[in-house]
Amino acid sequence: MPLKQLLTQLTAQFEAAGIESAQADAELLVADVLNCGRGELAVKIITGEPISEQQQTTIEELAAKRAERVPLQHLTGKAYFRNLELSVGPGVFVPRPETEQVAQLAIDALKSVALAEPIAIDLATGSGAIALSLATEVSYAKVYAVELSDDAIGYTRKNFERWAPDAELRQGDLSVAFDDLAGQVDVLISNPPYIPEDMVPIYPEVHLHDPKLALYSGKDGLDLIRVISKRGLMLVKPGGTLVIEHADPQSQAVREILEADGWRQVRAHRDFNLRDRAVSAIR
Ligand code: GLN
Repeated sequence: MPLKQLLTQLTAQFEAAGIESAQADAELLVADVLNCGRGELAVKIITGEPISEQQQTTIEELAAKRAERVPLQHLTGKAYFRNLELSVGPGVFVPRPETEQVAQLAIDALKSVALAEPIAIDLATGSGAIALSLATEVSYAKVYAVELSDDAIGYTRKNFERWAPDAELRQGDLSVAFDDLAGQVDVLISNPPYIPEDMVPIYPEVHLHDPKLALYSGKDGLDLIRVISKRGLMLVKPGGTLVIEHADPQSQAVREILEADGWRQVRAHRDFNLRDRAVSAIR
């Protein structure tokens, strides 16, 4: 089957399955099987380059899974975040585009620290998306991260080895991690689980395939954010920065938690969709 026709077929199949980004997903899936980028795929479509029967079968098998709402990133094993290509799959949270902007807040704060080797920590790092962005984009910083999940940590390790072997990954509970760095941290960031435990996320890709540990945090979703605020006061040095991602209706509640704990200059930040997405504060 010509590539163009195959892509039209997959796009229709994905649209029928309720996938919003049907055409993009079709292109990314085919490009992945053909081991090329989307730009190269466009060239192959124009030049009418044939694909093998084997490739077509693989594409159709993966497309059937995607139509069942298995995340595209689990099928390709890859997720893109800022400049990084990260290894992901079942067991690890797929990094989201809105978190790229949250990471920017920490990158800016880290770059503004007038030290030869400022220290940053990413709590509940998952795939390592935020920590590895800090480590690669502020290469002189010393970056630490912690992840609890046995199911996620294999992906985290692989991503650290690939992108920042000098960054330090630990496995454990963020509420007790990094005692050794008390009062030394310049920038502390986290994209913790923050969905209220009885809410069901809209997309099946999220509620059926993202790990529950990465999604939910108590009745109002803020349990871990409360812990991070307290823990952060112990870790961050005076004048250091805290950045926390949250769900859009939680901005005020998160600001109140931080202010009550004694953080200064507590500020709300929006994402590209103009939804409140993060709060930053100064110790
Ligand atoms: N942002 C997630 C979602 O889209 C929620 C959990 C998180 O990012 N920490 O479902």
